[in-house]
Amino acid sequence: MSYLSFGGGTRFGFRPVDDKNVYWFCTFASSQVPSYDDEIQENPMKMKQFVLGLINKMPREAQKVVEKTSPSNMSYSTLKLRLPWDVLFGNTVKENVCVAGDALHPMTPDINQGGCSALEDAIVLSRCLGEAFLKKSRENDDEFDRIEKGLLKYGKERRWRSVSLISVAYCVGFIQQSKGKVMSFLRKVWLSKYTSTALLKMANYDCGDLVS
Ligand SMILES: Cc1cc2nc3c(=O)[nH]c(=O)nc-3n(C[C@H](O)[C@H](O)[C@H](O)COP(=O)(O)OP(=O)(O)OC[C@H]3O[C@@H](n4cnc5c(N)ncnc54)[C@H](O)[C@@H]3O)c2cc1C
Repeated sequence: MSYLSFGGGTRFGFRPVDDKNVYWFCTFASSQVPSYDDEIQENPMKMKQFVLGLINKMPREAQKVVEKTSPSNMSYSTLKLRLPWDVLFGNTVKENVCVAGDALHPMTPDINQGGCSALEDAIVLSRCLGEAFLKKSRENDDEFDRIEKGLLKYGKERRWRSVSLISVAYCVGFIQQSKGKVMSFLRKVWLSKYTSTALLKMANYDCGDLVS
């Protein structure tokens, strides 16, 4: 059984990993939760109580998942946002260095695309580097230049995909987690359809093959 709930400033979900383990997450905007205390970041017992407080109106199964979690298996981190226009207009490639994976497009825990898109990066990067290595060296075109060109090609190929991943993760998070009355109403009548379509669309992506 998988579960996802959102609204009221919080998102919570869980999913079985195997027969014995369950993965769950809970996101919230600390500024919107009066019971938030910086200490929860360092104290897993407090963090557990805090999360149970956030999900106390959710189904019993959801609460049981958190109750059964050992505090030593819980971790806390701040969600990161890379602004889409930084990817669009900034440098994701410099000389023979490039960024990929979470460093290029940090994701939210519910969108399930972080690992998948890091693999897409790896495929496109390998393809571009493979082409660079296989190209016959021309005059004044040494290996370093070819690698740099290969990385620039990779950066260009991944730019719009990264922008859409970041933007969808942000918009879906904003819509799902929003506490406001207007947004809650819009979410119920219309936006929840948009968010599920957007998430499915993100997963349905073909980055091409790795040709040998
Ligand atoms: C609980 C959880 C569940 C997830 N579920 C899914 C899912 O269902 N589907 C999905 O697609 N994605 C999922 N993700 C996201 C996915 O795991 C990440 O998006 C993905 O691992 C990112 O890959 P990466 O290579 O960019 O970074 P990472 O996998 O984080 O790799 C970075 C590596 O760099 C190393 N490192 C860091 N600093 C240094 C340094 N200074 N020097 C040397 N090495 C360094 C780290 O130790 C690490 O090994 C999940 C993530 C979490 C935490």
